[in-house]
Amino acid sequence: MIKVDASLCLGCHSCSNVCPSQNIVRTETGVTRSIHWKRCKEECDLCVELCPAKALTLVPFDESVPEPEVCFYLVACKICGSRYATEPMLKRIESVIPANLQKDSEGLDWIRVCPVCRRTIEAERATRQMVLGRSRKSP
Ligand code: SF4
Ligand code: SF4
Repeated sequence: MIKVDASLCLGCHSCSNVCPSQNIVRTETGVTRSIHWKRCKEECDLCVELCPAKALTLVPFDESVPEPEVCFYLVACKICGSRYATEPMLKRIESVIPANLQKDSEGLDWIRVCPVCRRTIEAERATRQMVLGRSRKSP
């Protein structure tokens, strides 16, 4: 079965995404995200292999050990306020990306902006560039 080091878990859902037996249950309320690991007998090891934080280990099955659960508050997007990621996930991204790449060409702190707002901003910029390019070409 799986042992979880909750202090390392990022709340990223990779383990529940790869579990072929639905042993890792995720619940989102819109404000929080919980992950619950059922006692697993399969021992396929996929979740252990794919956890980016190395928070999981395979241990011998023991009925007396409580099933672990972690719960995170979701961080709100700086622009629209929708909650899209856990703080440990965002901190992890910030820790691996050089500081000069954490803001885009217009100074936007893009890691703290949700994917939907990022796509909208990029589309608006692309449209602006296109219009600008066309107006430069016209006589
Ligand atoms: S893959 Fe690892 S870090 Fe991500 S939710 Fe599962 S245990 Fe936590
Ligand atoms: S070991 Fe395999 S079956 Fe068990 S929880 Fe992990 S991914 Fe699921």
